[in-house]
Amino acid sequence: MKRGLLIVLSGPSGVGKGTIREELFKEKSLNLAYSISMTTRKPRPKEREGVDYFFVEEKDFQAGIEKGELLEYAQFVGNYYGTPKFYVEKLLNEGKNVVLEIEVQGALQVMEKCPEALTIFLVPPSFEELERRIRGRRTETEDVVKQRLDKARKELATQDEYKYVVVNDNVIKAKEKIAKIIKENV
Ligand code: 5GP
Repeated sequence: MKRGLLIVLSGPSGVGKGTIREELFKEKSLNLAYSISMTTRKPRPKEREGVDYFFVEEKDFQAGIEKGELLEYAQFVGNYYGTPKFYVEKLLNEGKNVVLEIEVQGALQVMEKCPEALTIFLVPPSFEELERRIRGRRTETEDVVKQRLDKARKELATQDEYKYVVVNDNVIKAKEKIAKIIKENV
C-alpha cells in the first residue's frame, strides 16, 4: 500500500487552524486522519480527552520525551504540546494522509526530521484580525492573551520556511485552497 502523506498545518494561535481542519475533514476523498496531540494544558469546556487532545500531567509528558515517543514537541505559553510518533507512523503505513495541526517550533522540527512532509502555514488577513479572534475566544486571561499575541508576531516571521502559505480570510476559500494543495501532492 502506498504510504500516506504527512501534512503539517501550522500558523499562529487564533488563525483558524482548527476550524479549517474540521472543514478539510468533511472532504472524505482527501483520505485524512488527524494526529491527536498530547498536552499538559487543562481542557477547555467543550474539549474531550482522546478527541481534541490527550490531556496529561507534566511528568507523563516528560516521560514521553525521555522515551523518544514524540515526533516533535514544544512548550507554548506555559504548557507542553507534542505529537505521539507511534500513531502517526501507524496511520501513514495504513495509507492515510495524516494532518498535524501544530505550532511553529514543532513544525520546524518536523521539517528537519521529515523533509518530504507537506508544510502549510496559515496567515490571518491582518494582525488586527488575529487579535480580534484571539480575544473573541474569551477563555484566557489578559496575560495569556498578551503572551499569545506576542508569540503570534514571532511565529508569523517564520512563514518562508513552509512549502505553502495560505491566507485565512474566508474559511471555505482557505479550505478549498488547502484541499487543492493536498490533491496536487498525494
Ligand atoms: P491550544 O492551546 O490553542 O489548543 O494550542 C496552542 C498551540 O499549540 C496551537 O498553535 C496548536 O496548533 C499547537 N499545538 C497543538 N498540538 C500540538 C503539538 O502536538 N505540537 C506542537 N508543537 N504544537 C501543538
